[in-house]
Amino acid sequence: MNKYPLEPTASEMHSMGEAALALVEEFVNGLPEAPAVDLDGAMELARELQERAPEEGSSFTELLDIVAVASSKVINNSGPGFLAYIPGGGLFTSALADLLAAGFNRYVSLAGKAPVIAQIEATAVRWLCDMFDYPDEARGVLTSGGSMANFSAVVTARKAKLGEDFSLGVLYTSHQAHASCATAGYLAGFPKSRVRLVPTDAFLRMDVDALAAMVTADRAAGLHPFMVMASAGTTNTGSVDPIGEIGALTRAENMWLHVDAAYGGPFRMTAYGRELFAGIEEAESITLDPHKALFVPYGTGALIVRDGARLRDAHHVAADYLQDMEGLEEQIPSFSEYSMELSRNFRGLRLWLPIKLHGMAAFREALEEKRELACYLYDELRATPGFEVPLEPDLTAVAFRYLPEDGDADLFNQRLLQRINDSKRVFLSSTNLDGHFVIRACVVSHRTHRDRVEEALRIIKGAARELASCG
Ligand SMILES: *Cc1c(COP(=O)(O)O)cnc(C)c1O
Repeated sequence: MNKYPLEPTASEMHSMGEAALALVEEFVNGLPEAPAVDLDGAMELARELQERAPEEGSSFTELLDIVAVASSKVINNSGPGFLAYIPGGGLFTSALADLLAAGFNRYVSLAGKAPVIAQIEATAVRWLCDMFDYPDEARGVLTSGGSMANFSAVVTARKAKLGEDFSLGVLYTSHQAHASCATAGYLAGFPKSRVRLVPTDAFLRMDVDALAAMVTADRAAGLHPFMVMASAGTTNTGSVDPIGEIGALTRAENMWLHVDAAYGGPFRMTAYGRELFAGIEEAESITLDPHKALFVPYGTGALIVRDGARLRDAHHVAADYLQDMEGLEEQIPSFSEYSMELSRNFRGLRLWLPIKLHGMAAFREALEEKRELACYLYDELRATPGFEVPLEPDLTAVAFRYLPEDGDADLFNQRLLQRINDSKRVFLSSTNLDGHFVIRACVVSHRTHRDRVEEALRIIKGAARELASCG
C-alpha cells in the first residue's frame, strides 16, 4: 500500500507542513551567511535528477532534502549579497500567502465563482494603480512577470490604436529598453522593421528629438506610428526616459504611451521617484514587476491600464460555456476578461497579504534605503582612484569599471568581476556600455543593507588593487 495517499491524514498534513516550514525558516535565517554563489557539482546533481516518473512514492523528508540541495546550488538570488541583474529577494510572508492560496485553491479569474477572492486581487491591483494616481476606471492584471505584461500592453495598444488591420503600425522603444519590449512587438505580429529602436542620449535615456524625427519620417512614408514603450528604469543602468516629454509627443501624435516600469515602478512611492517619473500618471499603460522592487517571490508581474476598458477590449472574447458568469464587471472584474489566462494561481494574495501585514510604509522605507545605498556606492567608487563611474544612477544600479594603467581594460574588468564574485559574499553582473565591458551593481533586495554594501566596496576595491599589482 502507498505510504502517501493523495489526501494525507490530519497528522500527516501537520508533520509534512512543519517539516517544509522548518526548511524554509532555516533557509531564510541562513541567508546572510550563505555563499553568494555555489554551483559546485550542480551539473552532476542536475543529471542525477533526470529520471522516469516513479511508480512508487518516496519519503517526504527525502524529497525535501532534494529541494534543499537544489536550492543551494545556485547563484544566490535571495541573499543580501545578490547585486546582479535586477535582484528580487522573495518575502517570507508572501511565501506563506502562496501556501494559503494553493492550499485553498480558489478560482480567481471569474468574479462569479469566488467574488471575495477576486476582490482581494482587484484590491491589490488597485493599490498598484494608486501608486501612479490612476483614475477609477483604470484596470490591471497580475501576470507571471514583466515580459508578459509588456506583451499584453502591445496587444492592448495595437487594438486601441490600429484596430483589426495593423499592417502599417510602427512601435518605438529605446536601444536601452529591456529586450522583452521588442520581443513583445514581434510576438504581437509586427515585423522587425516595424519595431524601432530609438537612440539614447549621453545618460542612456531615450532621445526625444530622435523619436520625433523617426515618427515624422514614418508618417511621411505612409506608416502608422501607434506606440512608444518608454523605460522607467532600464535593466542595464537604471536610466529613466524623459516620460513627460515623451508623453507630450505621444498625445500630440495620438499614440499610446506605455512605460516599462518593471524595475523602477515602486520607487514612485518615494518623494524622489515621484519627481523622477513625472508624467508617468498620464501614460496609457504601465508594466510593473512586484517580484523585483516589491520583493515578492518570482511569478508576479503586473500590467495596469489607465482606461481599463481598453485592456478588456483587447483580451475579451465571450465564450458560451461562461455565459452564466457574465455581468458582474460593474462591481468586481473577472480577470480572465483582461488577460490571456483563464485558470491560474491566486497571485493577488502574494501581494495583498504582505502589504496588509507590513503596511506600504515598510516598502517605501525599504526603497528609500536602496536608493541611499546606491548613491553611497556611486560616491565611494567615484572617489576611488582608478575607477570610472560614467553615470550618476537614476535609480539603484551603478555601472563602473576600473581603468588599469596599461593593458586591455575589458579583459581587466572581466577578471575583476570574476575575482569579486569569487569572494562568494557578493555577486555582481556585467554589461556593455559604449562598446566597453562594465561591471554593474544593483541594489534592490529588501535583505541588502549598509553592511553588505560596505563589504561589497571593500571586496571591489581590494580585488582591483590585487589585480592591478599582479599586472
Ligand atoms: C525584469 C525586467 C523585465 C522583464 O520582466 P520579467 O519579470 O523578467 O519577465 C522587463 N523590463 C524591465 C525594465 C525589467 O527590469
